[in-house]
Amino acid sequence: MARTIRSIAVFCGSNTGAGTTYTDAAHKLGTAMGRAGVTLVYGGTHKGLMGVLADAVLAAGGEAHGIITERLAGLGHLHPSLTRHEIVGTMRARKLRMAEEAEAFIALPGGIGTLEEFMEIWTLNQLGEIDKPAGLFDVAGYYQPFMGFIDHMIAEKFLPAAHRGSIVVDSDAQSLLDGLSRFERVNVPKWM
Ligand code: AMP
Repeated sequence: MARTIRSIAVFCGSNTGAGTTYTDAAHKLGTAMGRAGVTLVYGGTHKGLMGVLADAVLAAGGEAHGIITERLAGLGHLHPSLTRHEIVGTMRARKLRMAEEAEAFIALPGGIGTLEEFMEIWTLNQLGEIDKPAGLFDVAGYYQPFMGFIDHMIAEKFLPAAHRGSIVVDSDAQSLLDGLSRFERVNVPKWM
């Protein structure tokens, strides 16, 4: 049965990436979320894809809730026109608040910060600490090398093959959102 998702935490680059491919995709996702009335929960900055995404959500009439650290806010990174923002002490506290606030998660292309945040959420789902759908927005095949490494984990028996399907991977913003709503938990034990 499809679930209603009212808020999604999106992890994404604090840089924009090369060319306009990634900014276009961030804009599409933000617009789709804003139109659908899905609140954006994110790192709270105006920088990189994060800023493009929040601007698109707000321009489409949606709500953007930023959770940023004191240090980054002090550097002037806080987006000036969010619906709501929180300033927390540490990156750890911030990830916890994002995981509490969001009903689902998406990673757009990004760097090590994006991957780290996404992997924590995937792991928490795998261990059963949370049950919240997570997906990769595979813009222009950005996440294919990463999924290749996941396949290597499976081949080398560090990850059950069924767990490849425990995240949604899609190259289209709307079908990624639909995939998260339809997502059903993979109930295959982690330990082989
Ligand atoms: P990266 O992918 O390495 O650019 O890091 C992006 C991720 O790390 C985002 O999802 C944020 O949660 C966090 N992050 C990195 N830089 C910033 C920043 N200037 N402001 C807020 N969050 C940031």
